[in-house]
Amino acid sequence: SEEKSIILNSIRDIPDFPKPGILFKDITTLLGNPQAFDTLMNHLEKRYEGYELDYVAGIDARGFIFGSILADRLGIGFVPVRKQGKLPYTTVAEKYSLEYGFDEVEIHIDAFGEEKGAKVLLIDDLIATGGTAKAAANLIDKVGAHCVEACFIMELAFLNGREGFNSEVYSVLQID
Ligand code: 5GP
Repeated sequence: SEEKSIILNSIRDIPDFPKPGILFKDITTLLGNPQAFDTLMNHLEKRYEGYELDYVAGIDARGFIFGSILADRLGIGFVPVRKQGKLPYTTVAEKYSLEYGFDEVEIHIDAFGEEKGAKVLLIDDLIATGGTAKAAANLIDKVGAHCVEACFIMELAFLNGREGFNSEVYSVLQID
């Protein structure tokens, strides 16, 4: 569609970042393009306005940008899922594997309020292997909320990262 090509054309490819052989999808050019940024946010707002969500949870750090705007547009709260050691209050943590070693994401235990079963949309800029987002979705469930859907601006579909999610998975753009 025309809106998807506006968004796709605003994202730039950077070869050999952060390591040789990796083609990095750079979304800073999308953020700097007000027409593309607004087209994307309108698309996400339209998709999620009927979901009756309680919160949007964004993954550190690019998920914060899209997630906080979307939460505000939907009139609901935003929750940050952060890398280890950044959150000040009591947290629940989840490790996930990287190519070499592991990383860890955390969430505040009371991030989704007193009542159990809050409906949460998880968002990040990009899904590659899916390790980061699956750990984040597990955290949402661990603190008693429900991850309704995991949403990404871009999906590197050839890495099959969407396999093994308990929640629905949606991506605006798919790269084969
Ligand atoms: P995964 O855990 O799915 O393998 O990696 C996804 C995480 O790494 C996301 O938090 C995402 O922001 C980051 N990431 C990996 N590759 C890229 C890329 O090419 N472009 C961008 N913008 N982020 C990436």
